[in-house]
Amino acid sequence: MKIAIIGAGYSGMSAAWDLKKAGHDITIYESADYVGGLASGFKEPGWAWSVEKFYHHWFSSDEHMLGIIRELGLEDKVIFPRPLTVMYHEGKFYPFDSIVNAILFPGLGWGLNKIRFGLVGLFLRITTNWRALEKTTVEAWMRKWAGEKVYKLMWEPLLVGKFGEKYSKQVNMAWMWARIHARTTRLGTFKGGFQAFADQFAEKLRATGVEIRLGTPVTHIQQDAGQGGFELSTPEGTEKADKVLVTLSPAVAAKMVPALPKEYLEGLLRLKSMGAVVMTLALKEKLSEQGYYWYNIPKSAGFPFLAVVEHTNFVSPENFGGDHIVYVGDYLEPEHEYFRLSQDELLERFLPSLQKLNPRFERNWVKKTWLWRTAYAQPVPLVNHSQNIPAIQTPINGLYFASMSQVYPWDRGTNFAVEIGRTAAGLMLKE
Ligand SMILES: Cc1cc2nc3c(=O)[nH]c(=O)nc-3n(C[C@H](O)[C@H](O)[C@H](O)COP(=O)(O)OP(=O)(O)OC[C@H]3O[C@@H](n4cnc5c(N)ncnc54)[C@H](O)[C@@H]3O)c2cc1C
Repeated sequence: MKIAIIGAGYSGMSAAWDLKKAGHDITIYESADYVGGLASGFKEPGWAWSVEKFYHHWFSSDEHMLGIIRELGLEDKVIFPRPLTVMYHEGKFYPFDSIVNAILFPGLGWGLNKIRFGLVGLFLRITTNWRALEKTTVEAWMRKWAGEKVYKLMWEPLLVGKFGEKYSKQVNMAWMWARIHARTTRLGTFKGGFQAFADQFAEKLRATGVEIRLGTPVTHIQQDAGQGGFELSTPEGTEKADKVLVTLSPAVAAKMVPALPKEYLEGLLRLKSMGAVVMTLALKEKLSEQGYYWYNIPKSAGFPFLAVVEHTNFVSPENFGGDHIVYVGDYLEPEHEYFRLSQDELLERFLPSLQKLNPRFERNWVKKTWLWRTAYAQPVPLVNHSQNIPAIQTPINGLYFASMSQVYPWDRGTNFAVEIGRTAAGLMLKE
């Protein structure tokens, strides 16, 4: 069979790995001139490692990712450093990456709130019944079980940060369960950066005979009325395939295949998601003298960004020619002004707040900045979301769709991109 895969992110590459092993003829069409998708990276001259455009790490529980890495024979390149995560409280940051640190965190006081916070966390780690949890919102569930103070201090900031005011009160409790249930404090990466991994993955695919066509966007997919199968429109002309797997956002997929039945198309278009705007800065000096990697900052603290991640407190600055790499970013709806402002305008907004994180910080520490924006960064799971997930096997025979929006109840992540890519491959092989 001749199979076309649209997108060389982790879903597409993982599907290609299994489909090729089953003996099929595989072509991956990728619009960018690199592989890796949302988890791709970039490298400056003088850097030994690449830096992800959007901050990325793995959890030690990422079994699908670690599994495929083993199959690729690359497991000796995976490292799990132990970086420091901190939580903001009344102008200060406190370590927040272990049970002991959570107990010591002053924000919750010493009484009942701390116990409720701990019990709720324990329950969510143990229970597997996420279907019961998706019937209610995080807001309602946490207010009831963790209490008003714990909700306001710990969970509301996370929800507002990730989903904005608009969706923060609508996100279902299974989403929160998945984060607490599946994530670990041990964080991993690939020696050389995620782009090095994606490139090595692509090399392994090519070695087995998979064709990866970079710089080749597919604009339209239609059924081939005469001979069966599909016709794909690309700038180089029309290509044919017996089966097709699309791994793009639901909105882009809907535009690409307008012949999909109305109900399925409407299902794709109903799915909600947030975009992301992330600036990467190369600094002359370390931003966090305490060595913090991940800062949790509530929107209410007045910073013009949600996330601050000092990558070189996770992996050594020596990998980047001594540069200190810091990300500042936010999850936003695509209408937000951060999608329109120039890189310089955004930098002007961000600089004063970096000084709040380190009073010694000076503008001349900034050697270079890069700006990355994506309209599709974080799916938004509303109440009873499992009933709204489009099937991987679309109503058009031979056409499959696998995206971040379908990995639910899990939150998006490269681990689940691997899982859904392989699930899609399994369905394609079974048919
Ligand atoms: C800010 C941010 C932080 C994240 N942090 C983490 C993290 O710490 N750990 C983690 O594991 N995951 C993280 N993720 C999630 C992770 O990046 C995604 O879950 C994963 O990369 C999705 O893979 P995918 O293959 O499904 O999609 P994508 O990576 O989006 O791949 C789709 C591919 O299709 C290509 N494409 C688009 N249009 C066309 C077209 N018309 N024709 C051909 N090709 C096309 C795109 O260029 C892309 O390469 C993060 C994501 C964001 C945005």
